[in-house]
Amino acid sequence: CVYPASLRRNACSSPSALRSCMSAWVIDQYGTDGVLKYTEEMPVPSVGSTSEVLIRVHAASLNPLDISMKGGYGAKLLNLRRDPMSVMAGASEFPLVLGRDVSGEVVDCGSDVTHVVPGDEVWAAVPPWKQGSLAEFVTLTEYEVSHKPKLLSHTEAASIPYVANTALSALVNAGGLCRDSASNKRVLITGASGGVGTFSIQLLKAWGAHVTVTCSQNAEGLVRGLGADEVVDYTAGDSLELLEMMEKFDVILDNVGGETEEWATGLLKPWSGAKYVTLVSPLLLQTDSMGLLDGMLQAGLSLHNKAMQNIISCGVFYRWGFYAPDGPALDEVSKLVDAGKILPVVEAQFPFTQVPQAFQKVENGHARGKTVVRVV
Ligand code: NDP
Repeated sequence: CVYPASLRRNACSSPSALRSCMSAWVIDQYGTDGVLKYTEEMPVPSVGSTSEVLIRVHAASLNPLDISMKGGYGAKLLNLRRDPMSVMAGASEFPLVLGRDVSGEVVDCGSDVTHVVPGDEVWAAVPPWKQGSLAEFVTLTEYEVSHKPKLLSHTEAASIPYVANTALSALVNAGGLCRDSASNKRVLITGASGGVGTFSIQLLKAWGAHVTVTCSQNAEGLVRGLGADEVVDYTAGDSLELLEMMEKFDVILDNVGGETEEWATGLLKPWSGAKYVTLVSPLLLQTDSMGLLDGMLQAGLSLHNKAMQNIISCGVFYRWGFYAPDGPALDEVSKLVDAGKILPVVEAQFPFTQVPQAFQKVENGHARGKTVVRVV
């Protein structure tokens, strides 16, 4: 393993950086049980291009995607995104480091990096096609990195970036909302008690929207505390009737998918540009099962058919939302956090020695915010 120049420079001030290898939780194969392994022999990543930043991870957090990726979800498309040439050559993605959020400290920068310098405290959402944050160090491009909110600890900060980038991409790019247009818009969030939902409620309230949510009865206090105006308990038998009695919505952010998709579009204002955005698309499942070309074609066809059906029958837009890396968007979130308008919702935290237990927690479902891993 070769360690970067700045780590050698900083060797006296940070003894742990003297090592050329680092601790990490990795998988060497996909599977459900027993595949997560702790190693101290993962090479410390280096700044490979002039726009890259090396970050010492203080805290990471887990998302449902980590659980699915451990089992092989999305492998075909993510491998293509990682390195198209290596897919052709049949090269392996292992050992793979999971973990999509990072809060930490910059230790090295490429020569073109201007936004951050070594010593800066930063946060970021690590794209799923890159090595993750359940390790002592991670590299990202400058564009993906943002200064961490000053008021948050690293543990708190690590709970936000991935859900924030996802929610912003879904609400802004697919849902057509923004700070200046969301005021008084009626938004429905399904599955609001989890990571994306608890962030989205706060973001939309900060933007002045009216927010209705669905969640289990025992999450009502949490979501109301975050600002939800109306709360519908989906476990009570009459939740759809209650939603149908309400004024119709401008935007629906669906964190649940499945059956929800069948009734949700009927809750939107017809013929007025209203949008249904689901985060639960079949794209990766289809590329996994049918191969890249057939899977993408099938997913594209299904999206096209649903979009056409909804626009023709009731004049509403049907869209898929996806996480998108976006450091500048996190800069804006950072301001909202430091202004006290967005709070971290950390449901559980685990030390680095207990990453398998943290995975188990997320796998058990019923999230109420986020599960964080303290790496330092
Ligand atoms: P979480 O697991 O953190 O939250 C899901 C929440 O939904 C839980 O609080 C759960 O609580 C609640 N829930 C489950 N079933 C229902 C239901 N029928 N109605 C209302 N609430 C329900 O997930 P995230 O918030 O991180 O992500 C949400 C979804 O979006 C996930 O499916 C995730 O995979 C997906 N996602 C997709 C991305 C993309 O790029 N496309 C990016 C990020 C997330 P309880 O069961 O107790 O009610």
